[in-house]
Amino acid sequence: MKKIAFHWQILISLVFAVIFGIYFPAQVKYISWMGDVFLRLLKMLIIPLVLSSLISGVTNIGGSRNLGRLGLKTMTYYIVTSIFAILTGLLLMNLFKPGVEAELNFTQTVDSGLAKDSLGDILLKVIPENIFLAFTDNAQLLSVILFSLLFGFFINQVENTHSQRLKDFFNSMFEVMMKLTLFIIRFTPFGILGLVATKVSQQSDLIALIQSMGMYMLVVILGLLIHAGITLPLLLKLVGKVNPLKHLKALQVPLITAFSTASSNATLPLTMEATEKNAGVSNKITSFTLPLGATVNMDGTALYECAAVIFISQVYGVELTFAQQLVVVITALLASIGAAGIPMAGLVMITIVLTAVGLPLEGVGLILAVDPLLDMFRTAVNVWSDSCGAVIIAKTEGEVLMV
Ligand code: ASP
Repeated sequence: MKKIAFHWQILISLVFAVIFGIYFPAQVKYISWMGDVFLRLLKMLIIPLVLSSLISGVTNIGGSRNLGRLGLKTMTYYIVTSIFAILTGLLLMNLFKPGVEAELNFTQTVDSGLAKDSLGDILLKVIPENIFLAFTDNAQLLSVILFSLLFGFFINQVENTHSQRLKDFFNSMFEVMMKLTLFIIRFTPFGILGLVATKVSQQSDLIALIQSMGMYMLVVILGLLIHAGITLPLLLKLVGKVNPLKHLKALQVPLITAFSTASSNATLPLTMEATEKNAGVSNKITSFTLPLGATVNMDGTALYECAAVIFISQVYGVELTFAQQLVVVITALLASIGAAGIPMAGLVMITIVLTAVGLPLEGVGLILAVDPLLDMFRTAVNVWSDSCGAVIIAKTEGEVLMV
């Protein structure tokens, strides 16, 4: 029997979940467990996935002899562009407020209250008192991220015999975690069935929900288009002195591949080839920036993390204070850095941002159904930003390019 394509599975389960939620609200309790199981499986992945993804990412930077200047430029580009992306998402979500207009009665499920810590407290708590306790608590993921970055950095500072062993270990662990994540992602249709049917059965105004979901999708896509079509081309033009249209043409194949596979990692070989052969960037720069970028630099994911969390807060009728929005910005950045370049990794990371501002994790159920589609757009933006970065860095290093 021919296998049904993943996006069809998602669509079928979505339609089924909506029908079930509308016509059999009393029976929803028999399938809601699927949503709970799925959420638990996602949460199970977080710590080991982030730990291995970050440590292997950071140790691979250290492999380059040019860590100093090139490393600094690369990291600056990654962080600056990700922050631009997040701010675009934040601005658009506050402007269009796709989750606010709808009178959705979700407020009753909000947790006892938002985290009341001041920004200073939150930042202080990023430093774990006991890293092993942090490993056992998803809410302390920021501490795990900090520790992983430091640990990865210092792996490169020890003698080769030791560092090689650890590098191999964390690279292998990362490979396994990516396989495991992809395996769990295959169960998304069941997760959708449980979570969406539950949400629909609690919902009196379904049209309003669908409208705000549609609006949310459009706003995220608009944000991604602004970032990819205005912000990054401006950087290409102003900093790299490169023709953005020519570069876009050079990158056609990897961009289409990123869109259709929703995986920066799977697209990496094509991104490297196109950036070298069509744009003319040296292998020295592509081999350093692109593999790292595929895991660390995710502008599309960063924008999405922020937008999705703001949307969820709007739907639950929670006003985020300025300090909390700042926490969303910082955690969205870290979540995008920690996300692996595989399909729907961004969704796994949403839970961290939700936890950071005390929003209910069930909020994931709201955005789950449209995640696969948004994933395609954000992955294309991730890959586009990686390659724009390689070109800009090559130009500032004095390379002569073909774009
Ligand atoms: N799918 C994205 C990527 O591979 C990550 C994400 O889910 O945001 O770049």
